Amino acid sequence: MSQLSGALRGRESGRGGMTHAWLFTGPPGSGRSVAARAFAAALLCPRGGCGECPSCHQVQAGTHADLLLVRPDGLSYGVKQTRDLVLRAAGSPSGGRWLVVLFEDADRCTEAAANALLKAIEEPAPKTVWLLCAPSAEDLVTTVRSRCRVMTLRVPPSEDVARVLTERDGVPHEMALAAARAAQGHVGRARRLATDAEAASRRTSVLRVPVQATSVGPALAAAATLVKTAEDEAKVVTEQLDEPEREALRQAFGEGSTGKGVAKAMRGMAGAMKDLEDRQKSRATRVKRDTLDSALLELAAFYRDVLMLQFGADTASGVELANADHLDELRRLASSSSPESTLRRIQAIMRCRERLTLNVAPLLAVEEMTLSLAQG
Ligand SMILES: [Zn+2]
Repeated sequence: MSQLSGALRGRESGRGGMTHAWLFTGPPGSGRSVAARAFAAALLCPRGGCGECPSCHQVQAGTHADLLLVRPDGLSYGVKQTRDLVLRAAGSPSGGRWLVVLFEDADRCTEAAANALLKAIEEPAPKTVWLLCAPSAEDLVTTVRSRCRVMTLRVPPSEDVARVLTERDGVPHEMALAAARAAQGHVGRARRLATDAEAASRRTSVLRVPVQATSVGPALAAAATLVKTAEDEAKVVTEQLDEPEREALRQAFGEGSTGKGVAKAMRGMAGAMKDLEDRQKSRATRVKRDTLDSALLELAAFYRDVLMLQFGADTASGVELANADHLDELRRLASSSSPESTLRRIQAIMRCRERLTLNVAPLLAVEEMTLSLAQG
């Protein structure tokens, strides 16, 4: 964060030369959007980011007038949306010194959208600061990333994640550490695993796949379970988001009121509701895909643990196994198969992930994978 404080000092001492485009990178859960938001708060706060004033609270709540918050809902962020954003970002701040655009998941920009974005960050409005977030710098086209100052966040060690869970959420240390290892540094996921019994049981069901997939029949059954588990989890997530949005829309159109203009308002609402439902549908697709992908990464981490054991890693060697809480299964698989076959299995999982991004039907792609897992 020294780059950040340096930039802020530059601002405070009036030296100017503020960088107008920043790129926050780090794997999911590394807190890149949290860091970007803290930076936005620091830029907008009259006291340099005190965390307590109305401005800081508004940034946290996403309601600050000089903060444009972009969170792509769907799988991609289109050129039309980006042009609208660029137009709004060209304005002046209403109160403070900066107009901050915080663009989460900027890697979801389509190529055309990235080009529209490029123009805006090449010649930024004098008081506009762009904060882009992406898993890695390579996820953005070269032309865009070369114009950004890159802030790379690393994954925190399991011990640190566990400490947060223990101190902030009151999770017993042993349990917190196991959850932190299983979540591989993803704080939010570690917290869910430690505090949400359903999330923990979904993980258990994912990790049952290597044990289950021994021949064709069980492999196909395991595939069906894996896809269904991911879909169930995605459904929980989207439902929590969908209904409040629909309710807010109904309120905005004053549903239930009577009088002149109601019929017209109702027609307007039908259109807006259709738009909202389209957006929700596209978000549901994205959440479903992301959820299945994280289940596959979990599975890959399981085989990576197996590979570590096959290469002689043990608890004394200081190698941290993500699934130390499933040590028996790991050992059994490690001793009953060869490292070559473990590598082939990991490759099968990675191929499945790739096919899913190419829109292959999830069940089909996952079945192919579990059959490869069974084959070894
Ligand atoms: Zn403040």
